[in-house]
Amino acid sequence: MATTTASGFIHGAFIGNRMVTAASGDTVPVIDPANGEVFTHITECGAAEVDAAVAAGRAALDEGEWGRMPAFERGRLLARLSQAITANAVELAALESRDTGKPARQASADITAAARYFEFYAGAADKMHGETIPYLNGFFVATEREPHGVVAHVIPWNYPAQMFGRNVAPSLAVGNAVVVKPAEDACLSVLRMAGLAAEVGFPAGALAVLPGRGAVTGALLSGHHDIDYIAFTGSPAVGEMIQVAAARRAIGCTLELGGKSPHILFGDADLSLAVPAIVNGIVNNAGQTCSAGSRVLVERAHFDRLVGAIAEAFGRLRAGTPEMDLDLGPVINPGQRQRVERFCDQAERDGIALLAQGSIAGNVPDGGLFVAPRLYGPVDPANVLARDEVFGPVLCVIPFEDEAEALHLANDSEFGLLAGVWTNDGGRALRLARRIKAGQIYINGFAAGGGIELPFGGVKRSGHGREKGLAAMHELSTIKTIIQRHG
Ligand code: NAP
Ligand code: MG
Repeated sequence: MATTTASGFIHGAFIGNRMVTAASGDTVPVIDPANGEVFTHITECGAAEVDAAVAAGRAALDEGEWGRMPAFERGRLLARLSQAITANAVELAALESRDTGKPARQASADITAAARYFEFYAGAADKMHGETIPYLNGFFVATEREPHGVVAHVIPWNYPAQMFGRNVAPSLAVGNAVVVKPAEDACLSVLRMAGLAAEVGFPAGALAVLPGRGAVTGALLSGHHDIDYIAFTGSPAVGEMIQVAAARRAIGCTLELGGKSPHILFGDADLSLAVPAIVNGIVNNAGQTCSAGSRVLVERAHFDRLVGAIAEAFGRLRAGTPEMDLDLGPVINPGQRQRVERFCDQAERDGIALLAQGSIAGNVPDGGLFVAPRLYGPVDPANVLARDEVFGPVLCVIPFEDEAEALHLANDSEFGLLAGVWTNDGGRALRLARRIKAGQIYINGFAAGGGIELPFGGVKRSGHGREKGLAAMHELSTIKTIIQRHG
C-alpha cells in the first residue's frame, strides 16, 4: 500500500487496482493535527497519473468488465465493500483519527457511516428503473438510466471516509468509473478503502484515488479533457473554479459548498432535545462540517432562559486528542486554526460578548491544533460572524421578535444548506420549513450531515445538485430515451 523512500513512508495513488507513486517523485507531508507533527507522506499525482486514472476508467467502461456488469452484480460488489469496511473498522477509525484529529468515537461513527453508504447503494443498484412514455401511434418509447461515464469526485478533508462513501457508493452503483481526488490534509482512510475495493473484486479501472494538492492534482483532474462529470465538496472559491472547468467542456457538476445554517429556537421548544442537538451540531468534528448549525436565532422574549441553557452546555465542552475522546478534537491544519482565531479576534474587536467558552484538556501535546469552543451573542445579523462560514466550533446567537423576523433572518444569508426549527407549534414549524430557503429542514431535531437515505444539498451559494438517498443516483446518471417506430 505504501513504499519507503529517502523521504520516509509514502502513500501511493490507487490506479488500475494498484498502488503507485507519482512519476515526478513529488510528495506532500501529512501532519497529525493532535500534535502538529509530520507523520507520513503522500505521493502527489501529476498529469501522468491523472491521465492514467482517467484512461483506466474509460477502458473499464468501454472495453472492460465494469461497463458490461449487470446492475445486481455491481450491487453485490458494493455490499462486499461495505462488509470489508466493517471488518476493518477498527483500523480505519484509527487511521481517520490520526489523519483528522477526530475523537475516537466520532471517527468510529464515520467509518460506520461509510460502510452504511455502500450498504444502502448496494441494495439500490438494481432498482433504478426507466419508464415507458405514451407517444404517437405506431411508436414505442422507453427511457433508461445511464452512467455519466468517468466521474471526477473532488472531496474535502473534514470527513474523508464519509465523503468517500457519499460520493463513490452512488457513483459506482449507477455504473460510473470513478476517479477520486481526496484532500491533501486527510486521505489515508480513502486510500485504504480503495485497497479494500480491489480486494473484494472491483475490476481494475472502476475506481481510482489520486492524492495530491488541489491546485495541482485537483486542477488537473477537474480540467481533464476526458471526464464526463464532476462532483465537488469544499469551499465556494474552489467550487466556482470547478464549475468554470465543467462549463468549458459543457459537462455537468454537483457543488456542495457549505453554509451558515440556522437554528430557529422558540420559547416553547423542548430544551432537553434542542440544547444537546444545537451544541453537538457545531462542535462535532470541531465545527468543520458543511452542514454545521452555526447560527442560533432565539426568540427574544425567552432569550435569557434559552441562551442560558446553551451557554451552560457550552461551558462544559472539552477539546482533546483522539484518544482522550472528548467532545471535540483539534482542527485540521494551522491555516484552519488561524482562520477560526481571526473570527474570534474580530468578534472581540467588534465588542460582541463571549457568552461561554469550553476548555482544552491540560495535557494535550504542545503543537496540537486545538481551539476552545466559543458561544458569542447577541450578534448583529450584519456582522461577519453571523454571515461567514467559520468552519470551527464557534456559535453565534441572534435574537428575533416573531415568526416573520425569524424567517427573514434565516433566509438573510448567501448560503442555504440546512436549517433546524425548534417549537412545539406544529403549524408554525411547517410554515417555516416550507418557506426557509435550504436543502434540508429539521423540525425538533438536527443531525448535521446525518441520514444516508435523505437527499442532501444546497441552494444559493451552498451549491447545487443533490447527494445521498436515491437522489444521488439520479444526479450521477443521465437519461437516454429510445424511440422505436413499430408501425
Ligand atoms: P478546498 O480548497 O475547497 O478543498 C476541497 C477539495 O478541493 C480538496 O480536495 C482540495 O484539495 C481541492 N482543491 C483545492 N483547490 C483546487 C483546485 N484549484 N482545483 C481542484 N480542486 C481543488 O477547501 P479547503 O481549503 O480545504 O478549506 C477552506 C474552507 O472551505 C474551509 O474553511 C471551509 O469554509 C470550506 N470547506 C467546506 C467543506 C464542505 O464540506 N462544504 C469542506 C471543506 C472545506 P487540497 O485540500 O488537497 O488542496
Ligand atoms: Mg485547500
